[in-house]
Amino acid sequence: MTMATPASASALEQSAVEKAWALLESLTDPEIPVVTLRELGILRDVRTAVAQDGTEQLEVVITPTYSGCPAMGQIEDDVSNLLQAHGLKGQVKTQLAPAWTTDWITPEAKEKLRAYGIAPPHSGADHDCQTPSGKLNGSGASSIIQFAARSTSNPGRHEQLAVPCPQCNSHNTTETSHFGSTACKALYRCLDCMEPFDYFKPY
Ligand SMILES: [Zn+2]
Repeated sequence: MTMATPASASALEQSAVEKAWALLESLTDPEIPVVTLRELGILRDVRTAVAQDGTEQLEVVITPTYSGCPAMGQIEDDVSNLLQAHGLKGQVKTQLAPAWTTDWITPEAKEKLRAYGIAPPHSGADHDCQTPSGKLNGSGASSIIQFAARSTSNPGRHEQLAVPCPQCNSHNTTETSHFGSTACKALYRCLDCMEPFDYFKPY
């Protein structure tokens, strides 16, 4: 006989948002089935919003990896179908700003990409190509900083970061096509194990 209070109504909405998050958490990318949309940074938010008919419903915010990504239609369908299959009413909102960047890919997802055979993008933070190649041996060696440039005859020029082969980790790789299986990947080939592989281009 008691009326539903606003408090219990919002609790219901909260549980719907949580349920949607739990479902979408495991939704994988249609092109790269080993990583989830959440890990790739494509799934941005799940919230409630007032629909055109005045009812409150779920709104799932996604940001495409790059404008015109052909997989986005598939992703919208996947999200809608998953929610519908579990009795949740919601709509998908595509948000273009701020623009997606490969920095949004979680470190765990980058590892999964590598294991899957796709070289993950270099991020702005891990320019680790300068790891010292000299062995530290003897006393006090750790305090010696080697200033000598080892491999470049032109120290003023920034060398392009090598893309390590996901199969054998060799840095002896070359770009064979700037557009691989999809526009956001480049096709590379390892010159040591001769395996071709995709490189997820940084944005
Ligand atoms: Zn290789």
